[in-house]
Amino acid sequence: MPKQMPPAHPFDDDKLKEECGIFGAIGLTDAANFVALGLHALQHRGQEAGGIVSHDPELGFNSERRFGYVRDNFTSQSLMERLPGPLAIGHVRYSTAGSKGAAIRDVQPFFGEFSMGGAAIAHNGNITNAIALRKELIERGSIFQSSSDTECIIHLMARSLQRNIPERMEDALRRVEGAFSIVAMTRTKLIGVRDPLGVRPLVLGQLGEGWILSSETCALDIIGARHVREIEPGEMVVISAKGGVESHFPFRRQSSRFCIFEHVYFSRPDSIIGGRSVYETRHQIGVELAREAPVDADLVCPVPDSGTPAAIGFSHESGIPFAMGIIRNQYMGRTFIEPTEQIRNMGVRLKLNVNRALIEGKRVILVDDSVVRGTTSRKIKEMILDAGAAEVHFRIASPPTAWPCFYGVDTPQREKLLAATMSEDEMRDHLQVNSLKFISLDGLYRAVGEAGGRNTKCPQYCDACFSGEYPVAPSDMIDKGFELKAAE
Ligand code: SF4
Repeated sequence: MPKQMPPAHPFDDDKLKEECGIFGAIGLTDAANFVALGLHALQHRGQEAGGIVSHDPELGFNSERRFGYVRDNFTSQSLMERLPGPLAIGHVRYSTAGSKGAAIRDVQPFFGEFSMGGAAIAHNGNITNAIALRKELIERGSIFQSSSDTECIIHLMARSLQRNIPERMEDALRRVEGAFSIVAMTRTKLIGVRDPLGVRPLVLGQLGEGWILSSETCALDIIGARHVREIEPGEMVVISAKGGVESHFPFRRQSSRFCIFEHVYFSRPDSIIGGRSVYETRHQIGVELAREAPVDADLVCPVPDSGTPAAIGFSHESGIPFAMGIIRNQYMGRTFIEPTEQIRNMGVRLKLNVNRALIEGKRVILVDDSVVRGTTSRKIKEMILDAGAAEVHFRIASPPTAWPCFYGVDTPQREKLLAATMSEDEMRDHLQVNSLKFISLDGLYRAVGEAGGRNTKCPQYCDACFSGEYPVAPSDMIDKGFELKAAE
């Protein structure tokens, strides 16, 4: 039996979850060690499992895949010695496509042996036509090893008639719909690709003579690499240790639709997106929120940790003092305990505690990044009131999340999203708070640097989970009965 990952804590379920982080390195001695560090810095993007594939000119390809945190697996000397060579890629995952909590066979990177040599691939995103592709490939004789959508790319590459692996990958990716940032490797090359809309992030870094690909810049910092640039939407880079970086644009050029939620929540605040710190953007979201939804109160408190920069921005703009009214238990990891019913009932109190001395008798503004099901918001409100707060006002650093994401983020079904079934006032009453306000979509666009707000004819970002306007039709889900928003 494969080792199973301990279950996630139940109170982490009320957040959207980014599915994956990817990292690759070439031209570095024992590249897998750098990949392990990079994946550790990307652990916020996926905690279920991780894997690394390396290549050594004498020992060939080697692969290790494990459930659990990078720090618990890829720090063992004996394991890392099994990943030799100057070229390696890695992946941390939560999981969207592919079964959750499933077998080790679903853990990336995936490996394929082709007539011109082997290749490994790791993917962040979600292929929205994977069910149709899988069916077609199986009918034509492909034998799938996993339930992951990413494996379709390997089978499409196997069927391509192109001469080399980068060309086969181009061929395969032209058949794929949805969101993908990819790191891949052959025996001698590191390859990075972003889908034509650039929904998911991918950046290029340099460390000495070596090159790095990473989901986020925070993972370059941990190994001391220089941030060179973002891989552009629709770009494929093929990197060799001696030949440097070759860039191609194999897909039809389209306007970029980067995931706006990366700014709000998924990316780490110390990462840089579009030349600007994520922390700074989140701070600005708080400023916009204070302008759009002011309220008379005594304290601004973040829901830790992701609400903190926006709460600081809200406090600066409103002049209302900032306070850490809720303290997070930093050591509450997945591996703490297998929750029993009794522990489950303690819920959010295991992770967060109210700073009663600050809160008692105060009118409190709570700033959170999002409301998904609303279950955690309600529990936090109860804790704040139990601690003696006079009023509770929620300010949310994203617009109402009313639509599921099909581009590599784990979202509940639409009917489970609070904002899909209730208006803002109804949500306020449901949560039993004194007031509840979300930043507007225009306000969010202004905060990420679009001074004119959202261009309604040609939005500058993917914002489908707020707007219901999907930049790529989720064709598998439509086949399963998902109804798109009616045209206005
Ligand atoms: S639907 Fe939302 S979470 Fe998904 S890619 Fe678009 S903005 Fe990001």
